[in-house]
Amino acid sequence: LGKSLRNVLDRINGSSAIDENLIKDICKELQRALLQADVNVQLVLRLTNTVRDRALNEKPDAGKSSKQHVTRIIYEELVNLLKNGEPVALKPQTILLVGLYGQGKTTTAGKLANFFIKKGFSVGLIGADVYRPAAYDQLKQLGDKVGAEVYGEPGQKDAVKIVKDGLEKLADKKIKIIDSSGRHALEDDLIKEISDIAEAAKPQERILVLDSQVGQQAGPQADAFNKAVGVTGVILTKMDGTAKGGGALSAVATTDARIVFLGVGEHIRDLESFDADRFISRLLGMGDLAGLVEIAKEEMDGSDDIEELARKMTSGKFTLNDMYMQMKAVKKMGALRKIVNMLPGMSKMEDKIDFDASQAKLDKYKVIMDSMTNQEKEEPSLIKGKRIERIALGAGVESSEVRELLRQYNNSRKMMSSVSKDRKMRKRMQKQF
Ligand code: GDP
Ligand code: MG
Repeated sequence: LGKSLRNVLDRINGSSAIDENLIKDICKELQRALLQADVNVQLVLRLTNTVRDRALNEKPDAGKSSKQHVTRIIYEELVNLLKNGEPVALKPQTILLVGLYGQGKTTTAGKLANFFIKKGFSVGLIGADVYRPAAYDQLKQLGDKVGAEVYGEPGQKDAVKIVKDGLEKLADKKIKIIDSSGRHALEDDLIKEISDIAEAAKPQERILVLDSQVGQQAGPQADAFNKAVGVTGVILTKMDGTAKGGGALSAVATTDARIVFLGVGEHIRDLESFDADRFISRLLGMGDLAGLVEIAKEEMDGSDDIEELARKMTSGKFTLNDMYMQMKAVKKMGALRKIVNMLPGMSKMEDKIDFDASQAKLDKYKVIMDSMTNQEKEEPSLIKGKRIERIALGAGVESSEVRELLRQYNNSRKMMSSVSKDRKMRKRMQKQF
């Protein structure tokens, strides 16, 4: 799906003017792309009708080309399609995970357990996969790692019995997560088994775990599981790979359930809360960088900041003042996060930048930086030893806090320099801004 959508956007970029005919064509291509991904026909029609109406009737904002305008509308409507729900509630509940083999159910059970434990909940895991001989051991290992109690009955073939026993044994746990069996393909006995489990356990959340590579199969799979248990949420796994997760659109459309998390790696902590904006940005990829940067700029009041930042990213020089500006800009909008996400190979850089800097942190950095000389701010490598102590004293903070600021600076600088070293990327960025 991602690829076809990019084609649509490339067409918009490649055309010199946008008129009614072109909009019609674009909508047709958009339809084809979405239908190919098994998105429900009604939904596709509704979406493209909205895009067409808006493209024809809404005037582009001052200074915006009609291309940017149409791109923006498509982007917004796609985001709307996915933005339809609450995150998983932080309250006592039972969660059932369903899905085919290898989609990532068991791994995700461990990740969810970790998520809730970090939030202060006690967690019990129930291993109700009665088809894989090693399923219990896998779950037990994960549970031990994160400090969740694991219940299972190795050898037992009756999944419903395990679930009933497990819920009793783990009654004192605030969160109970049930890991269920999969199959290579949709089979009637699997569907019966999980609907029986759902009936016995009455889980508040019935989450479909889907490999992001699933593509066209997403619709039928989601439909079958939805009929069996009434899917309330989707977790899309292996988003760290090359797949962009276009199939998720169909799963969401079919079940009317929201995406709650993304699995982004094999480790227990590799679980991201779902954010429709970021997801669509990733899905659309580089082809749409210009359009998205437009959006990002519009949403920031100081749009100069981001141009200045982009200039810095391509120039190679990056000072403490730049980092402070970067953090401020990022805090305002999350715009840079979007851009970083769209640059190939950059998503791994994400943890190098503090995207969620609190105002308190920014204020503290400001106080620390005020105790530095201009030369120090321009050339932070000068700051070590005695200088750190002097700055800490002047700012009334611990020297460890000055070091933290410097660490943050070094991370950001590394990221910036990897962008400016990459010639192809630099060209692209320069073209965009
Ligand atoms: P299940 O059969 O649905 O229970 O799937 P598993 O939890 O056993 O996962 C199947 C494989 O996918 C394992 O090798 C996992 O390590 C891997 N896996 C699960 N989630 C992710 C993810 O988000 N990213 C990556 N890279 N691998 C994952
Ligand atoms: Mg499993």
